[in-house]
Amino acid sequence: MLSNLATRDVETLLHPYTNLSAHRGTGPLVLERGDGVHVYDTEGRPYIEGMAGLWCTALGYSNAELAEAARAQMGRLPFGHLFSGRSHDPAIELAETLKELMPIPTSKIFFCSSGSEANDTQVKLAWYYNNALGRPNKKKIIGRLKGYHGVTVASASMTGLTANHADWDLPLPGFLHVATPHHYRGAEPGESEEAYSARLAADLEETILREGPETVAAFIAEPVMGAGGAIVPPRGYFEAIQAVLARYEVRLIADEVICGFGRLGTWFGGQALGMRADSLSFAKAVTSGYVPLGGLSVDPALYDVLVAQSEKLGTFGHGTTYSGHPVASAVALKTIEIYRRDRIVEGAASKAPQFQARLAALADHAIVGEARGIGLIGGLEIVADKASKRQYDPKAGVAARCVAFAQGEGLIVRPLAGDRVAVCPPLIIAPDEIDALFDRLTRALDRTR
Ligand code: PLP
Repeated sequence: MLSNLATRDVETLLHPYTNLSAHRGTGPLVLERGDGVHVYDTEGRPYIEGMAGLWCTALGYSNAELAEAARAQMGRLPFGHLFSGRSHDPAIELAETLKELMPIPTSKIFFCSSGSEANDTQVKLAWYYNNALGRPNKKKIIGRLKGYHGVTVASASMTGLTANHADWDLPLPGFLHVATPHHYRGAEPGESEEAYSARLAADLEETILREGPETVAAFIAEPVMGAGGAIVPPRGYFEAIQAVLARYEVRLIADEVICGFGRLGTWFGGQALGMRADSLSFAKAVTSGYVPLGGLSVDPALYDVLVAQSEKLGTFGHGTTYSGHPVASAVALKTIEIYRRDRIVEGAASKAPQFQARLAALADHAIVGEARGIGLIGGLEIVADKASKRQYDPKAGVAARCVAFAQGEGLIVRPLAGDRVAVCPPLIIAPDEIDALFDRLTRALDRTR
């Protein structure tokens, strides 16, 4: 029997990423409030938010300083835009702060409101850049199977997940996908991580040569794949991939939408994994998820081309109403101030060994094939048979069942593509809360088998 609120939900809301048919029967989990790493449903039941919302609430819930930053900015200048050279101090100050933090050469910061928009902008900029340089054929974009980059037409085209393509008439022509860098599933028996990385890089090179390097503009990658299964790349992966991209002048775009701002114990995920990108997209934890904000870094070579294009075309024809929204910018500034003041990134790094040890111990569980992560993110794969790595019948929805049991135990985690479960708690999680999280997850796995 659904509650009143749940019934109203079912009657009115079209839910993103939800089985719409099943939802009519099960209804929603309606949350009312949050505090620290906990959220509470309308019955007052507490849950550890083991996914930081959607990989974003790094500072947890009910952070009064973030609420006050939003309130103060709303009282002062609730809206301002950056079109036609207009500006305001929160956007300027945030761009300065982010430029300082960027791990790659950066001339400018471009703001938007989501990860999807940031990645869409990356595609448009790669195209615009190559047109400006007189290379109109250099337009193809390579992503990876199971990569996730968002839902707008171009970002969903770069995404490598079936649910984002089937019956959506995507990917668009000119978007290609190479293999998922997942050693557990993709490596040959006995193949080392380094050898597997070299093979993936050779496959990428073959793809570029087959397509013609003069037709390939960019390659996009998350440092750790998120929605595709919380998959950590094999050792040496980015070094090997980058050597190939450099040979053919293919831009590397780092999708730091999940890994940016401390998730791997470094400010950006690429820093933990030897990634040297030409540009990077960010969103989510830049405001700890409290208000929507995304953006990307514009490297010097690209920026020079954009300026030259303005001389030719008169205007840089891209941007949204909310690019650099003052309230979002003010909240991001406060978020980053807290990250620095409270040493949140260093804290994530110091808690990572405990988190990873508890995660790795789950690999001993009878139905867990792989349990691997880095920093404060981890993925585990549920298997029907550990020795052969055989998966459950997809119709059994085993990861979703495990996640439902976890919810019963007072833990929110997320089922992902295939039989994987992701864990990605707020970065402020305390050591005893890490233990509580994994105790609950273990009980959920016990009930799943
Ligand atoms: N890129 C990555 C790596 C993501 O995980 C996501 C969202 O989960 C996106 C892009 C899309 O961001 P948004 O949902 O804000 O559009």
